[in-house]
Amino acid sequence: ATPIAMIASIGAAARQGILIKGGKYLEILKRADVLLIDKTGTLTLGRPQITDIVPLDDLSAEEILSLAAAAERDSEHPLAEAVRLTAAARGVPVEKPQEFEAVPGQGVRARIAGREVVVGNSSMIPEGARLPEAVDLLEQGKTLLFVSLEGKIVGMLAAADTIREEVPAAFAQIRALGLHQVELITGDNPQAAASLAKPLGIAYRASLLPQDKIAIVRAYQQQGHIVVMVGDGVNDAPALAQADVGIAMGAAGSDIAIEAAHMALMREDWRLVPELFAISRRTLGVVH
Ligand code: ADP
Ligand code: MG
Repeated sequence: ATPIAMIASIGAAARQGILIKGGKYLEILKRADVLLIDKTGTLTLGRPQITDIVPLDDLSAEEILSLAAAAERDSEHPLAEAVRLTAAARGVPVEKPQEFEAVPGQGVRARIAGREVVVGNSSMIPEGARLPEAVDLLEQGKTLLFVSLEGKIVGMLAAADTIREEVPAAFAQIRALGLHQVELITGDNPQAAASLAKPLGIAYRASLLPQDKIAIVRAYQQQGHIVVMVGDGVNDAPALAQADVGIAMGAAGSDIAIEAAHMALMREDWRLVPELFAISRRTLGVVH
């Protein structure tokens, strides 16, 4: 495309709320054939709600919530925010942890009143996923946060997030683009991933760590594919940077993600994604 056509396209995109950090990314997007998508905050609103508190030992639901909220006190994860809000709504006391460690893509580890508390998924607390109480909640597509105290599982919390409302319509358009692969890649459990991906008719891979997401981007690239990645979180920044075109969802997403990405959707609207592909294809009708 001529520089003039490119500048016109970047301007047209900007008017719709799409920030593009250079014409070359529109050229790459035109040739892209793999679209990878993060889940939390990207496909969903990223404001999960705690739906269940399940005691598995002698502790009450309030005590489990209190421990979990203390462990999550200093975490920036949307799930941590959900736990803190529920604790506040129920008026349970939340202690300040003596030690705290976030484990990206898995959970948190903290020391509270001298005792070790872990809140996280089955990669941190493997016995959790096998419990009959967990199986039922997993089948509902919920995200589970297992809570352990001094190495012993004492309870679990279930969380549910809301899919962005325009997603089904946007994915009808995305499927019509005829890409080689459209895939949801998430650190959440396989059932939660499937409950979103299946109705959209897209593939999914679950239980991924942040480094697994980068490895998936690289693997597609090594096979000769051109990869677009849409994500929003702090954990997504390396995968967004590794992608041929990284697209940050939303100005409300993390600054780190917007910094790492090549494009940003300042308006959080999935319909802008097929629109971007359309703009790139229109701009570069003639390939030189
Ligand atoms: P996603 O791929 O959906 O963006 P993340 O990589 O941020 O998710 O997290 C993956 C999974 O790790 C979550 O679904 C959750 O099970 C667990 N997890 C991450 N952070 C926390 C936390 N602060 N508390 C509890 N669980 C967490
Ligand atoms: Mg995320």
